[in-house]
Amino acid sequence: MTSPRRRRAAATSVALTAAAALTLGGCATEAGADDSGRLQVLASFYPLQYVVDQVGGDLVDVTSLTPPGAEPHDVELSPRQVREVGEAEVVVYLAGFQPAVDTAVEAREPAHLVDAAATPAVAEHMGEATEEHAEEDEADEHASEEETAEADDGHGHDGQDPHFWLDPTLLAAVALDVADTLSEADPDHADDYTTAAEALGTDLAALDTELTDGLADCERDVIVTSHAAFGYLTERYGLEQVGISGLDPESEPSPARLREIREVVTEHGVTTVFTETLVNPKVAETLADDLGITTAVLDPVESQTDDATDYRGVMEQNLSALRAALGCR
Ligand SMILES: [Zn+2]
Repeated sequence: MTSPRRRRAAATSVALTAAAALTLGGCATEAGADDSGRLQVLASFYPLQYVVDQVGGDLVDVTSLTPPGAEPHDVELSPRQVREVGEAEVVVYLAGFQPAVDTAVEAREPAHLVDAAATPAVAEHMGEATEEHAEEDEADEHASEEETAEADDGHGHDGQDPHFWLDPTLLAAVALDVADTLSEADPDHADDYTTAAEALGTDLAALDTELTDGLADCERDVIVTSHAAFGYLTERYGLEQVGISGLDPESEPSPARLREIREVVTEHGVTTVFTETLVNPKVAETLADDLGITTAVLDPVESQTDDATDYRGVMEQNLSALRAALGCR
């Protein structure tokens, strides 16, 4: 994506042409590293890029198909990015989340592919989570059948909640699959990838403990969020999510939905409406103003909005925001 990367790619093809000429057109290359010595990896959006970065370290060059600070739902790919999907040595994506990436992966068939949705722990949770998260969307018993159907319209492309990375233990499970696939593409460094994935697993387990402990003893347990991205988090830490929009941040809440959220806020003494950095906060702010309560940022970590703060750092900020809003001790 960057010009150094293009230059490396160009240098590689020159080198390959020379090699092919020397071997009289024999099979040109072992899929592995280019002349930088690093494995070229594409991740489809930030949390997957974070995992590749942590697991691959200096052995990989990872770029994200979703530009930094952009919202990954329904990302569009340039023709060049589609080509890069075919040229990358490893592609890491989440099937069913970004249709343009799904299409590019099917068309270009990258040499080594990790689908986070196929990681057994993730697949298992996605199967179970979808119905439960949809139920949470209904905001208690207030929702009518009609409104439930509206909430469903906002769901992911297979009607599934894609936001698995907000449960750190599921991200750790994907890290092990990433390590396996990096090892297939670059067997000489298999031990490095495995060791790094295990270290990331330990770190994410520590984050999981922080979240569990930090949210164990709170005055409230209902969170009102911009879009219903936090189902995996609320499920794991015993909270209840009420999303103003559904699973897709672009879906507009109906007047009925907003009425319903007002009722939940009143009934549960909710103090805070959570906004996101990448979604226009207008609806959430208006709602909070009307109700005389406050807003705060809860980041679904769909993109990295601040270079200095990685997944781990954003999740810690989220924990502080949740503890303040919920009155946790
Ligand atoms: Zn989302």
